Amino acid sequence: MDSTFTVTFLGTGTSQGIPVIGSNHPVCKSLDPKDKRLRVSVLLRWDDFTCVIDCGPDFRQQILRENVSRVDAILLTHEHSDHTAGLDDIRPFNFMQGNMPFYAHKRVFKSLHERFAYIFETVNKYPGAPSVEEIEIDKDTPFIIGGKEVIVIEAFHDKLPVLGFRVEGFTYLTDVKTITDKEIEKIKGTKVLVVNALREEEHYSHFNLSEALDFVQKVKPETTYFTHISHIMGFHEEVEKKLPQNVHLAFDTLTITI
Ligand SMILES: [Zn+2]
Ligand SMILES: [Zn+2]
Repeated sequence: MDSTFTVTFLGTGTSQGIPVIGSNHPVCKSLDPKDKRLRVSVLLRWDDFTCVIDCGPDFRQQILRENVSRVDAILLTHEHSDHTAGLDDIRPFNFMQGNMPFYAHKRVFKSLHERFAYIFETVNKYPGAPSVEEIEIDKDTPFIIGGKEVIVIEAFHDKLPVLGFRVEGFTYLTDVKTITDKEIEKIKGTKVLVVNALREEEHYSHFNLSEALDFVQKVKPETTYFTHISHIMGFHEEVEKKLPQNVHLAFDTLTITI
């Protein structure tokens, strides 16, 4: 059994991904693989346990790319499509493993019931449809997966509450615009922080670069990786040079050991 705790960035792009369809922006035309960003998601692995945070429209491609043959749990930050639209592609795991355990806020499940009604059908459900085990979580209740405690953190995405997750020295937060000091207390002492930084310009529902850097100052992790990045942020290589020491832009395929 491998006891190393690793995190692989499955995707690091904002909701449209990079390149954006039809865009002639130089970052969308870049030949640097680090400028190609699928929708945000991370793969966490320890012991013989594998879980994924968010399940966006690129889920299938991401799982194939990383040669993942088993997923034990999927944690959802919130219901937006760039974080949930890959739900139909859990079916191969259903055929191999049975129901897929999903951890999400009850509001998120309510939204999924409306948007993926066929998955949650109780009468005459199509036999090939995905099967989801719903496990409701909230900011006040840590839970255990794969023998490790997950601390749940609440932040706000404009007015929408979103959940972040801390597992030992690793904290993952995305689609954050504001967060209370009380929730920041839960993150303190984390070694590796992943948080969203959209672009330099302000945005009503996401941290821009300077807000994300201010947040890093409050949390003081050893290392930070920014994610949920827009093409407007600029070329990976150039932005990376402007960042403080121990703060990096994440990129797709990056794997770190916690
Ligand atoms: Zn998003
Ligand atoms: Zn969102």
